[in-house]
Amino acid sequence: MIIVLKPQCTEPQVKSFTESLMNDYNVKVNTWVGTQSTVLGLIGDTTSIDIDYIAAQDFVESVKRVQEPYKKANRKFHPDNTVITLPGGQKIGDGSLTLMAGPCSVECEAQICEVAERVKASGATFLRGGAFKPRTSPYAFQGLKAEGLELLKKAKAKTGLPIVTEIMSIAHIPLFEEEGVDIIQVGARNMQNFELLKALGKINKPILLKRGLSSTVEELLMSAEYIMAGGNDQVILCERGIRTYETYTRNTLDISAIPILKKLSHLPVVVDPSHAGGISWLVEPLAMAAVAAGADGLIIEVHNNPAKALSDGAQSLTPDQFDHIAAHILRSKEALSRLERAE
Ligand code: PEP
Ligand code: MN
Repeated sequence: MIIVLKPQCTEPQVKSFTESLMNDYNVKVNTWVGTQSTVLGLIGDTTSIDIDYIAAQDFVESVKRVQEPYKKANRKFHPDNTVITLPGGQKIGDGSLTLMAGPCSVECEAQICEVAERVKASGATFLRGGAFKPRTSPYAFQGLKAEGLELLKKAKAKTGLPIVTEIMSIAHIPLFEEEGVDIIQVGARNMQNFELLKALGKINKPILLKRGLSSTVEELLMSAEYIMAGGNDQVILCERGIRTYETYTRNTLDISAIPILKKLSHLPVVVDPSHAGGISWLVEPLAMAAVAAGADGLIIEVHNNPAKALSDGAQSLTPDQFDHIAAHILRSKEALSRLERAE
């Protein structure tokens, strides 16, 4: 961290500020006294220093971080990729491409079980499905809630596919644990629900953390840091499109976020082309782009009858479409891996 002090900052002020920084934050401070101003260079772990507090001191001209404010999610302190291993042996982030697929919302037993069987046959290794749904309108279908989790459990028992489902409230954590949810999804709207993130940091289950609608890459990593700071290292980052001025698509898939997240962090990155584009025919090209950019996995919405879906029908693939697209994507991933090995 670099702190530039105002020219009128007196020598005793510099001395007492430097001492308080060293004592309060356990950092070393290098001081350069120039003709115009004094510059302090802080060396050590500055993650816990509140940059706004420093800037608020009336003798401080400016302050700049040179180190990222996240530590546990940072590749600098953990150079190897994190590989998440489920109790059933499924791995995320090991170099293979993980396919998570299923409906936006769990609607009934026949629907979730049929979709589960079909996506499994097409190569998906995780079943997604929302039981608690974050909807813009309070009058829209809110999900089957606890009954939805029961139905996901049935589909899991039939297919062996581990389940990924969204949590919206801290109060539901015990229910998610009892029902054997394998990966807990934190949706875009809850990416900065810090109390929820802190509570999920205390459990021993992988968390799929979706990027907020208008969040920066650094904000996403800071949210991952919240979970990891609590003791839960099993975080999967998810790029699902961000708000831009473009209206043709539901969101804009931020392809550059994929290599950036992989560079800055060791955590696996999964991409959601369904919510990014919001249109079913866009799923395949966006998924292909995500794989080429280095995604560790994809989470894709599939419905047995998209036209009748209770949520997100327009972006949902039919099982037949998913079958075709999954085959294409998995073949492309294989070809990419072959190329990488040959290089
Ligand atoms: C979902 O996965 O159905 C969902 C609501 O996603 P997001 O939080 O990315 O909008
Ligand atoms: Mn959805």
